[in-house]
Amino acid sequence: MSEKGILVVFSGPSGSGKDTVLNELVKADSNVKVSVSMTTREKRDGEIDGVHYYFVTREYFEKKISENSMLEYAEYAKNYYGTPAEPVDEMLSQGKSVILKIEVQGAEQIRNRYDDVISIFLMPPSLRVLEQRLRGRGTEDEETIQHRLFIAKEEIRKAYDYDYVVINESIESAVADIEAILCAEKCKIERNKKTVSEVINNV
Ligand code: 5GP
Repeated sequence: MSEKGILVVFSGPSGSGKDTVLNELVKADSNVKVSVSMTTREKRDGEIDGVHYYFVTREYFEKKISENSMLEYAEYAKNYYGTPAEPVDEMLSQGKSVILKIEVQGAEQIRNRYDDVISIFLMPPSLRVLEQRLRGRGTEDEETIQHRLFIAKEEIRKAYDYDYVVINESIESAVADIEAILCAEKCKIERNKKTVSEVINNV
C-alpha cells in the first residue's frame, strides 16, 4: 500500500484529448480522481457547473487568489483557470491519485511547490490532427481556433520539462500508458518505505 496518494500534473494542448482520456482513466480506476478546476471562461454546451469546472466571475476568482485558496492558477486565452487547494489535499490524504488537468504555467507552479509530483504531457500525434480535433469540436470560432493552435505550438515546446510524454494515438493506448506510469510510480521505494519497515519490524 502506498502511504499517500500521488499528485499528477497532466497537460497537453487544447484538443489533445485530455478530457476523453481522463474520463476513461477514472472509469477504469476508482483510486484515481481528477480535480475540478475553477475558471472564468464561458460554459460550453454540455458542460456542467461543478462537474467540468466551477464557472465563476473574475471578481470571485480574484478573491480566491487573495485568500490563498488556490493551489495554482494561470491566465490562459484571456481567462483565469486554477485549482482549489482544499479538495486536492483531502483526496491525497485519503490515498487517492489526484490528477490536475492544467496548462503549462500552472504545471510549473506545482513543480516548484511540490517535490513529490509527477508530470505527464499528452501529445497529439501531429499538429494537423490537433487542428482537425479543434475544428471537429465545433465550439469555437475561427479566431479562437487560430489562437489556440498558436498557444498549442508554444505549449508543445514545454513537453521537455515533463517526466513523461504520452502520445494520444488512440484513447485506449493513452489510458494504458498512463495506468502503467501510475503503477510504476506507486511501486517506487520512496512511496513504500513505511510498508517495508512494517514488514521488517513484524518479522
Ligand atoms: P479549456 O478552456 O479548453 O477547458 O482549457 C484550456 C486550458 O486550461 C487547458 O490546457 C486546460 O488544461 C487548462 N486548465 C484547466 N483547468 C486548469 C487549472 O485549474 N489550472 C491551470 N493552470 N490550467 C487549467
